[in-house]
Amino acid sequence: MKLLRLGDRGPAVAEARAALAHLSFLPTAPRKSEEASTGPTGGSPSAGAAESADVFDPAMDRAVRAFQQSRGLSADGIIGPDTARALEEARHQLGDRLLYHAAGHPLVGDDVAALQERLSNMGFDVGRADGIFGPRTEAAVRDFQRNRGLEPDGRCGPVTLRELQRLQRTVTGGRPDVLRESVRLLARGPSLLGMLVAIDPGHGGDDPGVVAHGLTERDVVADLADRLENRLRSSGLRTMRVHESDEAPDDAERARRANAAGADLFISLHVDGNPSPRAEGVACYYFGNARGSSAVGERLALLVQKELVSRTGMLDCRTHPKTWELLRRTTMPAVRIEVGYLTNPRDAAALASSEVRAEVAEAVLTAIQRLYLPPEQDPPTGQLRVPRVATPSS
Ligand SMILES: [Zn+2]
Repeated sequence: MKLLRLGDRGPAVAEARAALAHLSFLPTAPRKSEEASTGPTGGSPSAGAAESADVFDPAMDRAVRAFQQSRGLSADGIIGPDTARALEEARHQLGDRLLYHAAGHPLVGDDVAALQERLSNMGFDVGRADGIFGPRTEAAVRDFQRNRGLEPDGRCGPVTLRELQRLQRTVTGGRPDVLRESVRLLARGPSLLGMLVAIDPGHGGDDPGVVAHGLTERDVVADLADRLENRLRSSGLRTMRVHESDEAPDDAERARRANAAGADLFISLHVDGNPSPRAEGVACYYFGNARGSSAVGERLALLVQKELVSRTGMLDCRTHPKTWELLRRTTMPAVRIEVGYLTNPRDAAALASSEVRAEVAEAVLTAIQRLYLPPEQDPPTGQLRVPRVATPSS
């Protein structure tokens, strides 16, 4: 191709000017009708405006250099093959056209690079985000589509694009491990069918936990675990007990068993105790410290906490990140729930009631369902009712 530089003129210059204007490196050219109305002859466009539209003037020279700099090209102000190609590729924004793998003549452009970046951020393997729609990008699009229940045709059209944009709003942050955790969560979709929840009664066997007001923590959490298990199963989820009622393994062993079973979530049930009878309320704990936390664990803890407070009327003692062995060693999102203080008369009276215990199970189930609902479908706290018997899977 012929190189274009300062002082040149002609249709190729006009085309490059239009591309630079489209990318906002040059002001948009005035409309012909405006020129006509202000033109001295009143009929044809003024000679001055017509000239500048196809002239490589100093303003265009500056625009070309700025564009080159933004693309990592040498900023020499000359439009050669590299700059011409970059100008062409920059014209395409994601969503402007259908993207697919055209063997022999691959689609190239900024829209392809944007697609590759998004897929890569969500953990799909596109290789390098080189802006070329090749077989690897096609495979990544297929993977994404399969994950989201879309037809896996490997083409990025309006439906796939909409799904990408929807997830973009949900999956944010910079840490790849947090992103992967969120993507795994979203990849499940809103159906809870077949999900495996590890239920961990906090005490058992020779370990009674807190004893007060005629109640024993071991027995309270065993009953809560039974209720939760029934409620989850009747909604189509699978459950596993982390330990038998006559044993009390240490935290590392509890985590190991849930990990070995491939549980999707981990729920540890406790009630609290304190020397002061005035201490009361509900708290939830998830894995985390100053450097970061389990994003999904934190969200699950928050949802359980909100549902519990709303349904039991107990004091809100909030959610807290902890590095406890149980939370640290579990590979799935895990929450330790402290449902009130047995040493507090009001909390103890509530925990003695079977209605409140049923609400605790309901709160945990609801929180789990909310965790898997897309943000736009998430209902207000205390209002979601998960069907008692979910549609059976095949
Ligand atoms: Zn306990």
